[in-house]
Amino acid sequence: MHDALTTWLRSAATRLHEEAAALTALDQAIGDGDHGINMDRGFGAIVGMLDGRPPLDGGVTEAAATADLVRAAGKTLISTVGGAAGPLYGTAFLRAAGAVAADHPTPAAAFVAAVEAAATGIGALGKSTTGEKTMLDAIVPAAVAARAVLEAGGDTRSVIRAAADAAEAGSDATIPMLATKGRASYLGERSIGHRDPGATSAALLLRTLADVTGSRPG
Ligand code: ADP
Ligand code: MG
Repeated sequence: MHDALTTWLRSAATRLHEEAAALTALDQAIGDGDHGINMDRGFGAIVGMLDGRPPLDGGVTEAAATADLVRAAGKTLISTVGGAAGPLYGTAFLRAAGAVAADHPTPAAAFVAAVEAAATGIGALGKSTTGEKTMLDAIVPAAVAARAVLEAGGDTRSVIRAAADAAEAGSDATIPMLATKGRASYLGERSIGHRDPGATSAALLLRTLADVTGSRPG
């Protein structure tokens, strides 16, 4: 799990760098045009953090090492990304770290618990819920879909694929929504008809995880 996580974080940094202009363009329409810059900076800093990390200590368990890395990524986001998304994603990672540190029967179960904890953390910090045109509109459906596939006996790849598919559908569903949280809410009705930048980056993160774990779209 630890190695897959490292691969995911590095690939996510690459994808966010490639998509930075597109994410920023989305944020120009309904925010202040910095979401791509923010995510690129934060994940660039995560790559720097990974490069500077000592090799894995053989004495720690896989779950503890994984949780530690998720926690380090969250701290990096909080300390390097300004605006709303830095603390929100940072908190999501910190909460996910707590979930990953607990005992889980399978990596798939750990993944589902992590996404659920991330969603809960974002909602608590942002005082937000689904239907408000935010990243939660991608992450909450991802958690629900992943949980359903896990409980139906799906393997890790199908659980992750379900999360990525639901996050993308959730991101699409933000287009007609009226924003009631974050900067986009200042626009009122004029926020309608635009895709939410944070929901877009959340879907991109989950699709990247699906890609690096071989969970291709079905
Ligand atoms: P800022 O809004 O400070 O410029 P970003 O542009 O990086 O920060 O991030 C904007 C994204 O943050 C939005 O597209 C939305 O998805 C998310 N967001 C903003 N406020 C909230 C909130 N209260 N709860 C959940 N997500 C939020
Ligand atoms: Mg912004």
